[in-house]
Parts: sequence; C-alpha cells; structure tokens
Amino acid sequence: MSRFKCIGILTSGGDAPGMNAAIRAVTRSAIYNGMRVKGIYRGYKGLITREIEEFFNQNVSNIIQRGGTILKTARCLEFKTPEGRKFAYERLQEEGIDALVTIGGDGTLTGARIFAQEFNFPIVGLPGTIDNDLYGTDTTIGYDTALNTIMECVDRIRDTATSHDRLFFIEVMGRDAGFLALNGAVAAGAEAALIPEISLEKDQLAEMIENGFRKSKNSSIVLVAESEVTGGAMGVAERVKKEYPQFDVRVSILGHLQRGGSPTAQDRILATRMGVAAIEALLEDQRNVMIGLQNNQIVYVPFSKAIKNDKPINRDLLNTLQVSSI
Ligand code: ADP
Repeated sequence: MSRFKCIGILTSGGDAPGMNAAIRAVTRSAIYNGMRVKGIYRGYKGLITREIEEFFNQNVSNIIQRGGTILKTARCLEFKTPEGRKFAYERLQEEGIDALVTIGGDGTLTGARIFAQEFNFPIVGLPGTIDNDLYGTDTTIGYDTALNTIMECVDRIRDTATSHDRLFFIEVMGRDAGFLALNGAVAAGAEAALIPEISLEKDQLAEMIENGFRKSKNSSIVLVAESEVTGGAMGVAERVKKEYPQFDVRVSILGHLQRGGSPTAQDRILATRMGVAAIEALLEDQRNVMIGLQNNQIVYVPFSKAIKNDKPINRDLLNTLQVSSI
C-alpha cells in the first residue's frame, strides 16, 4: 500500500496531443493502487485559484483520443515567486494532496524542481511537449503527432509547389530545437531543413544554395525551425529574395495547427506507459524525477538533468536528408 493517500495532477505550459492519454493513465493507475486523485486546472495557476476537483475513473473516460488537455493549461507568473509557491503549497495541504504529477515542458519541470526542493514535496514529471526538446528521453508526449501533422501539411504544399515551380519555406514549431524540422523534412521528402543547432555553426542557407541543391528540380521544399538563429521562414525568404532573386519564393507558417489533433497511436501508447510509470515511481519512493523513455525502456531522469542539458539532434539524419533528396 502506498504511503501516498492523494495525488494531484496538472498539465502546464504549451499543450500537446497525448496529454489527455497521460491524465487518464495517471488517474486510473493511482486509483488502482488505492490512492485518491485530484485534478488541478490550468497548470500551477489552479493551485493559486483553487480550481481543483476530485477525479474518478469516469472523469477520464473517452479522452484518450482527444487532443489538447481536459485539465486546461496556463502560464502562471505567481508560481515564479516564493510567495506564490508558498500559497500553492498551502492549498495542496488544505486539499490533502501529498504528491504531484506534472505534465509539461521545460518550464513546467523547472517550476516542479524548485517547488519540490523548497517544500520537500514529492513530484514526478512527464515530458509533454511537441518540441521533443527534453534531455533524457528519446521522445516526448505530443512529438509524434505533431510530426505526422507536419508531414501531411508538407505533402499538400508539395502539390502546389510542384505545379508552380516554386521554392517553399515552411516554418515549423520547435522553439530552439530542430527535431520537428529535421525529422519532418525526412518524412515528407523535403529538400532541406534549416535548424538552429546547425545554423549556429555555419550559414546553412548559403551552403545549401551554393551546393546547387535544386539543380535537377523545379520546385523545392525547405523546412525551417522557428528560431531567432534560423531567422524563421520569413527571415530566410527575405534573404533569398535579395541574394538569390532567380527563385520564385513562397512562405508557409504552419503555426498552431501543429499542436492540435487526435494523438497518434505512438503518442497514446507513450503517454499511457509514462502515466502508469509515474505512479510506479511514486510507489518506489522516487521523487523529483522525469519519466523518460530510452531504447524503449522507461527510465527515471532527475529534474536537474532533464532541464539543464540540451538534447542533441541526430546528426546522421542531416546526411540522410541530403543524400535522399538529391
Ligand atoms: P513549458 O512547460 O511548455 O516549457 P512554460 O515555460 O510556459 O512552458 O512554463 C510553464 C509554467 O511553469 C510557467 O507558467 C510557470 O508557472 C512555471 N515555471 C516556469 N519556469 C519557472 C521557474 N523558473 N520557477 C517557477 N515556476 C516556473
């Protein structure tokens, strides 16, 4: 029997498809193990505004296939202050919540880490972000769905790009990480990916054009990670218009449609495995860890490691992309 009587669960930061599948798995696994569950709405904000509700099995019925998060999400500035966190801690005590499962990205885990240390409070985190930019896990909840959405969008844009002999720059999300752009480019058969990890080292655009990447083609598609380093699709297109006016350039920014949609099988399975693992971790007295997946095995990654380290992209894939798109 667990020493925890009641766990709280919240989703915070950017939403990602599969968060609902994770909420479902955490709730059911906690109840299965004899704990009560309280859903906290709008991330850390719900702790301040007391938007907290007891969850039973039926609260999480029929949500595994739904995008977004039934618990909603929000940014919470108060939680970044010691007073705000103290207030949040008092609400947890009032509610009888003795452990937390937080689902979100880098910021969410950073908040969890600070709070856990300040109040010696047990927290387990799940990596929920389409960006796949958390260290210590091969993939994050929502990433596969976003990648598939990007692939479908690029397929559609390719139809029109081909008809008009155009060069398309398609901007995808990823904050400062190139996972979506690089893997999306490989999956959709794009000609190139401009990603911050590489743009920091060299002028990817100049190199790409000087290497005559379009020699035998009329139309081309290049995925660009949204980032100050790459300049985003708009920045890149402006540059091309000035420096290489021979190209008929167009831009498409995929934007928020990348966040939505029903999660893929892979994301549902990942979220369910991680949700169950979060409760197992608490039962094993693990705390202040993020659940990760490495080589298809569940692992516990200390918050400090997950947050501090930059996850490296797979550089072999750049070569794969180049070779497969000549
Ligand atoms: P994500 O989790 O997707 O990276 P954010 O960076 O917006 O999203 O973080 C989500 C929330 O986590 C913030 O609104 C805030 O409540 C909390 N948070 C982020 N950074 C900190 C921090 N340094 N200290 C305390 N709380 C934080």
